[in-house]
Amino acid sequence: MELYADIMIDISHSELDRTFQYRVPEELRGELEPGNVVEIPFGRGNRPTKGYVLRLTEQPSYEPEKIKEIGRIVTDLAGAESKLTALALWMRDYYGSTTVQALRTVLPLRQKAASKEKKTIVLKLSPEEAQEKLEFLKKKNQKARVRLLEALIAQPRLPYEIVTGSLRITSLVLKAMEEQGVLACESQHVYRTPQLIRKLLEEEQAAGMKNMPKVQREGLKCEEDFQEVRDAGGQREADALEFAGAGRGAEVWNGGSVSRAAGSPGTPAFVLNEAQQYAVDEICREWQSNPLGKYLLHGVTGSGKTEVYMELIAYALSQGQQAILLIPEISLTYQNVMRFYRRFGDRISILHSRLSQGERYDQFERARNGDIDIMIGPRSALFTPFQRLGIIIIDEEHEMSYRSEAVPRYHAREVAVKRGALEHARVVLGSATPSLEAYYGAEGGDYRLFQLPSRAAGGELPQVSVVDMRQELQDGNRSILSRELYRKMEQCLSTGQQMMLFLNRRGYAGFVMCRSCGHVVKCPHCDVALSAHRNGRLVCHYCGHEEQPVKTCPKCGSSYIGGFRAGTQQIEEIVAGAFPQARILRMDADTTRGKDGHAEILHAFSNREADILIGTQMIVKGHDFPEVTLVGILAADLSLHVSDYRAAERTFQLLTQAAGRAGRGEKPGEVVIQTYEPEHYAVVHAASQDYESFYEQEISYRKMSGYPPAGGILGIHCTSRDQELLEMAAGYLGRFIRQAAARYQVSVLGPADEAISKINDIYRKVIYVKHEDTKRLIALKNKTEQYIEMNEGYRTIGIQFEMN
Ligand code: ADP
Ligand code: ZN
Ligand code: ZN
Repeated sequence: MELYADIMIDISHSELDRTFQYRVPEELRGELEPGNVVEIPFGRGNRPTKGYVLRLTEQPSYEPEKIKEIGRIVTDLAGAESKLTALALWMRDYYGSTTVQALRTVLPLRQKAASKEKKTIVLKLSPEEAQEKLEFLKKKNQKARVRLLEALIAQPRLPYEIVTGSLRITSLVLKAMEEQGVLACESQHVYRTPQLIRKLLEEEQAAGMKNMPKVQREGLKCEEDFQEVRDAGGQREADALEFAGAGRGAEVWNGGSVSRAAGSPGTPAFVLNEAQQYAVDEICREWQSNPLGKYLLHGVTGSGKTEVYMELIAYALSQGQQAILLIPEISLTYQNVMRFYRRFGDRISILHSRLSQGERYDQFERARNGDIDIMIGPRSALFTPFQRLGIIIIDEEHEMSYRSEAVPRYHAREVAVKRGALEHARVVLGSATPSLEAYYGAEGGDYRLFQLPSRAAGGELPQVSVVDMRQELQDGNRSILSRELYRKMEQCLSTGQQMMLFLNRRGYAGFVMCRSCGHVVKCPHCDVALSAHRNGRLVCHYCGHEEQPVKTCPKCGSSYIGGFRAGTQQIEEIVAGAFPQARILRMDADTTRGKDGHAEILHAFSNREADILIGTQMIVKGHDFPEVTLVGILAADLSLHVSDYRAAERTFQLLTQAAGRAGRGEKPGEVVIQTYEPEHYAVVHAASQDYESFYEQEISYRKMSGYPPAGGILGIHCTSRDQELLEMAAGYLGRFIRQAAARYQVSVLGPADEAISKINDIYRKVIYVKHEDTKRLIALKNKTEQYIEMNEGYRTIGIQFEMN
């Protein structure tokens, strides 16, 4: 029996989204697997071309005589790669994308970036010999050689860059002296260290022992180890601090010294409390019997979820398995990352979006080679090619950043569950405000639920008060700061404590609100806010409904109605005017543009370099500032009216998380929520930090209206530079789907303009399809894909599917 392989042409270059069949030569049988990269003769000239093996089969799909043979295997990829390929194919089918797009998402780093080498110049003479040689060179007046030898006598190991750089020694001189046996040039492979990690480690070093927890302080040796290495390097240049990956005999400073100081990777920093221990015990108890276990850890902010993750990771390691921990990019901060380094040291790698291609590739390579066991990072870390994956943990699983905006538009939670199933890895979700999906899943028995109801380090949840901004206006206060918040700010500053002001601007989309009564103009069909367009017309982004603009409030007649506009900068000015002595830091898209902008601002704030931190949603996530005793939430309800069925959920999450920033230390915290809708259930339940009540109300709304997780919703997004063409294409597509819909019994909304109807001159429209059963939506999606495929007219239209 012959064996054939379906092969995809090199995913990093080709746009060809089809497979070609090749014969598997005798010698590759038993060796070749799906996921292998192979070299194949391609095209008329039989040019050697790279291809991806997707499937092996004994059935030729056309005349066997005409099928060409595979040349050779290019990279030898073991099991993990094939499973990731399978995952990619599932993503293609579930989310709708081409095979190439799916593969590139899962295996984004096919082309190997040149790896970096670190070269060191080493003195090979004894001190006496060196002195002798030096005299000799001086006599001969060989200045460059004298300079180099003097430097080497002072410092027997010098980085190559220093020698050729500030010492200005040419490679000819180096070569000559090497031949004379004076010195040697040693080189070693170094993994490119992500900037962030290096910076964090430097900061830690700079901060010294000052802010370190006990475990760290005990490890004084760590400081000395580091000092030695630095002395050996002889200078403070960045490349001397290059942190080489372990596993390849890297002698330079590595994270390992941090971990050694903290003890073995099995040692937790605390005795876990009862709730933490229960979760850990139960999950470990089921480890063998239920490798497909799925768990949800619902714990208020500061309840010690991270400690639980670390225990579980340690357990996975003890079982010879590996772990992936996803955390939102924004939480990749100094404090968080260091906790993991202290415990696990160099068995960890960290991804973040600012890594270069090469750096990212290196980190995946380390995982593939078994040099690390733990990968921490945002959603793309999910695709780390571990061979023995034991657990996937998703922290803050409700975060929006887990959904990819690029095709395939996947959600990390769903893909994690799928990968877990394919590779027999447990999945643990954690959140203070679980997504409706996760909690609904827990209710239905899909996830086992663990509750961590109180703060681990002690301390009460903050005192929350809600201020009705309509009342403020009535009482003649037209400032953006309510009287109560103002008073509390004064108090906070006078006692030398810190505060955060959070402006809720999520998904700000120009909706129209009455400042007098809080009324928001909504679509009569969809229960979402209408958006004001430039021409003044009010438009629904779900169904396309339009209305005339309003001049006075239809509810109370007030003329204080219009779009809500206030930025962080404006707030900064107002606060600076009101409290001239206060030191203010602002964190938003403008102030965080630099490479590690976020980290710098957060670090400055935690060093008490400012009294007030003003920012958008960026400031509410996962940071722990013990000195913050007051949190002010401005425009709490701004996110309630975003045209998205998740608006209430997002608002609840934001408010709860923001409130959770207050009183994390010993001093109790206070929170002021300013809103035009104090009676909205998202505001009410956030103020009382009552997730269950919020969930009950929200899920009944979702059930009633057929939105996820109670029902499925498929978004079909269409884009084009040509507005008319888009109009027509979306119209035809809408008609086709409505026809098909009759058979699938789904309901169809749109086409309508997207919430942002034009980006970079590209027009955008969307059609929504709803049904309880996701399977039906997938079937309809597949039908639609075929229809699009068959119709030339759609070639120039961008079409993306988005599930739920
Ligand atoms: P979460 O991830 O739920 O926000 P963390 O794990 O960050 O919570 O814990 C919050 C704080 O409580 C941290 O400062 C942590 O060091 C501390 N902590 C966690 N578990 C314990 C424990 N069992 N005993 C004492 N302190 C703890
Ligand atoms: Zn009104
Ligand atoms: Zn509508």
